[in-house]
Amino acid sequence: MSLNEKLHALFLLDQQVRGLRTRLDAAQSRLTRHHQRLEQLVQQRAEVQQQYKVAKTKASAVELQIQEMEAKIDRFREQMNAVKTNKEYSALLIEVNTLKENRGKIEEEGLGELSKADELEAKITELDGAVADQEKMVGLAQKEEEQARSEIGTRLSDLEGQRAAAAEEVPAEARQTFDRLAKMHDGEAMAVVIEEDRRHREYSCGGCYISVPIERVSSLLSSNEEVVVCPSCGRILFLDETLKTAMAKK
Ligand SMILES: [Zn+2]
Repeated sequence: MSLNEKLHALFLLDQQVRGLRTRLDAAQSRLTRHHQRLEQLVQQRAEVQQQYKVAKTKASAVELQIQEMEAKIDRFREQMNAVKTNKEYSALLIEVNTLKENRGKIEEEGLGELSKADELEAKITELDGAVADQEKMVGLAQKEEEQARSEIGTRLSDLEGQRAAAAEEVPAEARQTFDRLAKMHDGEAMAVVIEEDRRHREYSCGGCYISVPIERVSSLLSSNEEVVVCPSCGRILFLDETLKTAMAKK
């Protein structure tokens, strides 16, 4: 194999490896996203549950306070039945009225906490549903990821082996150029030469679509051992068989 053929073989394998890896990565990142969303929802539910507990505790404390106040009121009333003077009676009446007024305020507070607890309870139910739905999503994504792994996994490691072998065949300098370009152009280290107009000898780069001087195309045609790059984007150029044959005839 000539240098250009070796590079092209490496390029084709590299493209296949990247394609499969992209599919596998997509399935994995989908699963990660669904997992993260589930964790968020579970966390949110725990927070709401905590708030619910606090509101319930406050409401029962208020309930207890009200019971104590009522017991006190009852005691004052008993005392009022037993008093001898008007003055004592009036003093106790003031106490009772003050207690009643305070009880009213506290009752309002307790009702507030109770309605808050109701709202939080509804929210918990809502979140329970969302968590269950999200668990289903995670399950599906997990299946998809496993499927992708079993379908792609073996093929991928197979191709990675072939790619490594193909890379071994390419001389170090050309391989470095290839790797650098692959990194720069997201795997597109090489580009096919496109024939725009045979009569006017116009050609362009299949990577950046900018014209390639005929001299470069001729170099590619005459030598298979020279790395020819696109003057604009720097990708390694190659000729496809159809164009090569057509140009050779001429
Ligand atoms: Zn180009």
